[in-house]
Amino acid sequence: MIIKGDIIYTTEKGSFKQIPSGYIGTADGRVTFAGAEIPEAFRNESVTDYSGRLVMPGFCDLHTHAPQYENIGRGMDLTLLPWLETLTFPTESRYGERDYAEKRYRRAVADVIRQGTTRAVFFATTHLNSTQMLIDMMEEAGLCGLAGKVNMDQNCPGYLVEDTDVSLAETRAFAEKNKDNVHVKPIVSPRFAPSCTPRLLKGLGELAAEYDLPIQSHINENMDEINWVAELFPEAQNYADVYRQNGLLNSQTLMAHCIHMKPEETRMFVENGVMAVHCPHSNANIASGMMPVKAMMAAGMRVGLGTDFSGGNAVSILKTMVLALQVSKLRYQMHPEEGFLKLSEAFFLGTKGGGSFFGKVGSFEEGYAFDALVVDDSALNREGGNDLEDRLSRFIYAGDDRNIVQRYIDGKPVAVPDWD
Ligand SMILES: [Zn+2]
Repeated sequence: MIIKGDIIYTTEKGSFKQIPSGYIGTADGRVTFAGAEIPEAFRNESVTDYSGRLVMPGFCDLHTHAPQYENIGRGMDLTLLPWLETLTFPTESRYGERDYAEKRYRRAVADVIRQGTTRAVFFATTHLNSTQMLIDMMEEAGLCGLAGKVNMDQNCPGYLVEDTDVSLAETRAFAEKNKDNVHVKPIVSPRFAPSCTPRLLKGLGELAAEYDLPIQSHINENMDEINWVAELFPEAQNYADVYRQNGLLNSQTLMAHCIHMKPEETRMFVENGVMAVHCPHSNANIASGMMPVKAMMAAGMRVGLGTDFSGGNAVSILKTMVLALQVSKLRYQMHPEEGFLKLSEAFFLGTKGGGSFFGKVGSFEEGYAFDALVVDDSALNREGGNDLEDRLSRFIYAGDDRNIVQRYIDGKPVAVPDWD
C-alpha cells in the first residue's frame, strides 16, 4: 500500500521532517519507505491519494483511566487525595457490573480513537472481568496499546480493597490469558505506592519479571501524597525507591506525573530507562504542579504524554501537546534556565518519543508501525499556505478531531466505532 499526501513527522525532537506531496509505502503494517518519489521496486503498488491533506503519525496516549471517562469535567475543585476518595473510588467500584462497565468503556474507547490516538495505555479498575472486556473491546475496535487491572490492597475504601493473594492471583490470570496478544497487551498496574502493601508490590514486580510485562503507576504528583509515602515506607530512600526495591522500575515502566522529583529520583529514572508521562491537564486541574519537562529531557529522561482523564479534562493528545507547551512557557518565567518546549518537541513527545515505549512506533522511518492520521486542514488554512510546519502548528493549536478524515493503526484503516 502507498499513501500520497503532505507528510510531516519527527525523527528527533528538535525538528520536523517534511515531504510535501510525498509518498509512504507500507507492507505488513510497517513503513517500507517515505519520500518525494516512489522507489523503483514499489512502482507497481496502488496509491491512495490524499493530495493536499496532511499525513502525520498517530498519537500515543501513555497514561489514562478508562473508567474515569464518565467523570471528565467533574470534581475539579479537589486535590488528589480527596478527589480519589470522593469521586474516583466510588465510580470505579461500579465497574464490577458488566453492563455498567461495557457501556462506558465503549464510549471511552470510541472517543480515544476519534481524537486521533492510535496507541493508548489504560488503567482499568481492580475488576478482572471488566478489564478483560476493555482489552477485547480495544482489539475489536482496532486500537493498539496496553490495559491494566489495577491493584490496591490498602488505604482505599472497603468496597474496593483487595485481598493481597487474590490481587496477585487475578493479575497472574490476567497476564496468562493475554500474554500472547499482539495488539493490546496487559500491563502491571499498581495504582500508586500508598494503596499497595510491600508484599503486593513485591509480588507484582516478580510477576512483571516472570511474564516480561510492562509496568505503570503514579509518582510525585502531589506533596500530601509524597509525605504520605515517606510515612508508609520509612525504609525507602525516596518515593521512586519504593518501586525500585520491588522490581517495578525498569525500561518497561511508565510513571505518570513526575512533578516533584528529587535529583536522585531523576537520576534513578534515567539510569533505569523509565519513561515519565507528562499529564499537564490533570496536573493543572487538581492543582498538582508543573512538571519540569524540559529539565527532565535535558537530564536524559524518556518522556511521553498522557491525557490522564478524568484528572485531565481532555481525551485528545493534540490538546495535551498544546497545554504541555503552554505550561512549559509559564514555568519558563520562574525557571528561565530550563528553556521552554518547542512545537517539534511537543509533537515528538506525543508521537515518536512516547511511541518508543511500544518499539518502532510514532514515526514514518522505515520499519516503523504505520500508525497515521490524515488531516483535512483546509478550513484552518484559508490563505492556502503550504509550509507544512505552519499547517501542522495550526492543526495542533486550532484544530480538533473534526479535521481528521482517516486513521490508520498498525497499517490498517480504522473507523471510529459507532457503538453508542
Ligand atoms: Zn492517572
